[in-house]
Amino acid sequence: MQTDYMYISKCSENGDFETGQLTNFQDIQLSPSSGVLNYGQALFEGAKAYRRASDGKLLMFRPEENAARMMVGAERMCMPCPSTDQFIDAIKQTVLANRRWIPPSGKGSLYLRPLLFGSGAVLGLAPAPEYTFLVFASPVGNYFKDGLGPLNLYVEDEYHRATMGGAGGVKSITNYSPVYKAIKRAKSRGFSDVLYLDAVNKRYIEEVSSCNVFIVKDGKISTPSTKGTILPGITRKSIIEMAPDLGFETEEKCIPIEELLEADQVFCTGTAVGVATVGSVTYKEKRVEYKNGEGLVCEKLHSALRGIQEGMVQDNRGWVVEIDS
Ligand SMILES: *Cc1c(COP(=O)(O)O)cnc(C)c1O
Repeated sequence: MQTDYMYISKCSENGDFETGQLTNFQDIQLSPSSGVLNYGQALFEGAKAYRRASDGKLLMFRPEENAARMMVGAERMCMPCPSTDQFIDAIKQTVLANRRWIPPSGKGSLYLRPLLFGSGAVLGLAPAPEYTFLVFASPVGNYFKDGLGPLNLYVEDEYHRATMGGAGGVKSITNYSPVYKAIKRAKSRGFSDVLYLDAVNKRYIEEVSSCNVFIVKDGKISTPSTKGTILPGITRKSIIEMAPDLGFETEEKCIPIEELLEADQVFCTGTAVGVATVGSVTYKEKRVEYKNGEGLVCEKLHSALRGIQEGMVQDNRGWVVEIDS
């Protein structure tokens, strides 16, 4: 859904971004030979702003992590990057300008989409001479309340999302449309999304199209380690950091598909989905169903994380930033 304002700032070859401006949400002009259109030189980010139930204050969750991830991605894609301060300021300005679009507490959030792209004209294969940092926003509903329920994943062994040495570990726009084909095929067969395997052995689980994956076995939580082919999710990192407080042991390791199929529970994490239960995984012709519902590990982590993000539970880690104080 379109909102009223967006934030935009440009940067020329010297590497400094100008002071950004809020403008009405509108189309942007690009040269047909811009770096982003021709060579996909661009990154995106995703974050959410929530309204706290107790006092209506607006909250962001670990925005400095989004800023840091964009910096790592910008280095990989040979782009200059706004500073952490400018990044967070841009998000804050965009949220405040669009505050009338933020759903009431518990009903959803305002999704923020920062973009960094090569907007300058370049015909030869090289980094663009000008960059644009833009933030726009859209209200989004509550993933679960919208009735999506547990995810049914299809394990893809033909198409791959990322390879060693590629850009799978950063939020480069080039990682997404190449898997539309796999997602489309899975959806046409009734699955919710695709679970990718490593491209070398076609055996180790990596992640889902836009979220990370965890398994639970005998009360122990594990997730594939990020070694360049997996996007290091902020939700993933937060779950790893908070699980011990809830009494769970966590481990990052290589997880062969067989181990996933024998797990007690499986769940996904991401800004869009939060912590989402996986109801089934289908690998080749085999469909495995998992437990889900009240009292399970996934449900406990989901409630604990949501409680912090939406300001209902005390935040002892300084993860939550009030943006209208
Ligand atoms: C954005 C993204 C995630 C989740 O990251 P969060 O920071 O938790 O939102 C996971 N996998 C991919 C491929 C992504 O693009």
